Amino acid sequence: MNLDEIYAKYDKIIREDSSLPYIKCNNCNSTFFYPRHFCPKCGSNNIEVMRSSGIGKVFSWTKIYRKGDKWIYGIVELEEGFKVYCNFTEDIKIGDKVKVKVVPKDDRYYSIIASKI
Ligand SMILES: [Zn+2]
Repeated sequence: MNLDEIYAKYDKIIREDSSLPYIKCNNCNSTFFYPRHFCPKCGSNNIEVMRSSGIGKVFSWTKIYRKGDKWIYGIVELEEGFKVYCNFTEDIKIGDKVKVKVVPKDDRYYSIIASKI
């Protein structure tokens, strides 16, 4: 699988139902979010694109204040074992259980959003 094929599979999963795609290495069982055509841990190209349940817990977070607006931004650790940066829709604390969704903004960009469950 080359990177274009991986991007196409990511795009399909996101646009089907806002699920979070990820990559699983069939050689060492590592999981990771960012699209790559080989495993960053063992170098194998025996990888596949998977669909995450979106269920995870808050790993870390911060609040950003700017001109009267507030964003809560941080990292979620998914139950499949990888981490992803997200925007949170509400106040959270480390360890809270959340559901992550990927919302397309336009043809190229999307937002990764986590809400408490
Ligand atoms: Zn691997």
